[in-house]
Amino acid sequence: MLGAFALSEAHAGSDPAALSCRAERRDDAWILNGAKAWVTNGGTADLVLAMARSGGPGSGGVSTFAIEPGWEGYGIGKEERKMGLRSSNTAEIVFRDLEVPAANLVGEEGKGLRYALGSLEHGRLGIAAQALGIASACLDLALDYARERRAFGHAIAEFQGIRFMLADLAAQIEAARALTYAAAAKKDRGENARKEVAMAKLLASRAAMDAGVKAVQVYGGYGYMKDYPVERYFRDAKVTEIYEGTSEIQRIVIASELLEE
Ligand SMILES: Cc1cc2nc3c(=O)[nH]c(=O)nc-3n(C[C@H](O)[C@H](O)[C@H](O)COP(=O)(O)OP(=O)(O)OC[C@H]3O[C@@H](n4cnc5c(N)ncnc54)[C@H](O)[C@@H]3O)c2cc1C
Repeated sequence: MLGAFALSEAHAGSDPAALSCRAERRDDAWILNGAKAWVTNGGTADLVLAMARSGGPGSGGVSTFAIEPGWEGYGIGKEERKMGLRSSNTAEIVFRDLEVPAANLVGEEGKGLRYALGSLEHGRLGIAAQALGIASACLDLALDYARERRAFGHAIAEFQGIRFMLADLAAQIEAARALTYAAAAKKDRGENARKEVAMAKLLASRAAMDAGVKAVQVYGGYGYMKDYPVERYFRDAKVTEIYEGTSEIQRIVIASELLEE
């Protein structure tokens, strides 16, 4: 079964407490109206967890519902065309008088945003790991290419300008990896890892972005061509700084945890 997590809306991304999708109680059901934006697997999921406003304004008025896409009133809107991550489906989903059985309210009414933000902590670790994968692939490819490609009678790996680039990147990736594993280990121990998870996502996504830029640079003109995978990694890396909370949001989380300690 493929799942989807529908929190964001066209006007509520970094600030999900501003979401406006409505859920109204009618007898034994909730009636949902509104649209959710940029849902990963939105066009292909078998089960969707969607957050909607069942109460007043702010975070306390949001509940989470488990929805099956086959139900009447559930629609798939625009399927997005993206810079990268093109093998992943991203779509708008639309609710028009969608009747959700009362039993499909997840947990308690009004706690939906708390559940959603809690699951983002897991999700952010996943994105940090994804970013590390992209970064490591870029470094491996850049190392191989630097050994093979020749200029001025030498392998380009012999030039200090290239060597420094590879060295900085390797150090940056190892630092991000250590932080990601430490955050995961802390979470496994059941401790509060909010700050470490945000730090891991912030640094690993930066490493992925830097690795994409540098790998394309090491490849030179070939790096810009679709014939080589670094072009794709360069595009895929960017989203790791955006979804599951942008880098600015990670900094906000880190600072607020630091100031509370
Ligand atoms: C490929 C893809 C897949 C996605 N999948 C999902 C999904 O499955 N489910 C889901 O719910 N959402 C999903 N999203 C949405 C994603 O989580 C949001 O795009 C993200 O949270 C940012 O929200 P926004 O786009 O509305 O940006 P905005 O909130 O409009 O932010 C715009 C800019 O302002 C900055 N900013 C905002 N507030 C502050 C602040 N207080 N201080 C400093 N800077 C600030 C941001 O960092 C950003 O740079 C996906 C997005 C993409 C691109």
